Amino acid sequence: MEQQSSGPNPLCEVGRTHSRDRHRMKPVEDYPGVWECSRHDMFARILDDEAAAALNRGDVFPMHDGRQGVIVRHGDERGGGTLVYYRFEE
Ligand SMILES: [Zn+2]
Repeated sequence: MEQQSSGPNPLCEVGRTHSRDRHRMKPVEDYPGVWECSRHDMFARILDDEAAAALNRGDVFPMHDGRQGVIVRHGDERGGGTLVYYRFEE
């Protein structure tokens, strides 16, 4: 798990689709392998390919901190898994 948090921080999902607003996410303290964009309230983490493939946009997703989140989209393959973007849903 700790290896997954090494390397460049992933691009924010918003930046992926808006080329004028490319920016990277920041590692979340105390949660290795989890990143966040505080500007867009977006999180990302790496799941193994099987777990990632079972998820679709809008699916409920338990967040790293135990809150309920929702899947936003899938990202790049990375560290032997797939990056998944999610956000907190109230
Ligand atoms: Zn962002």
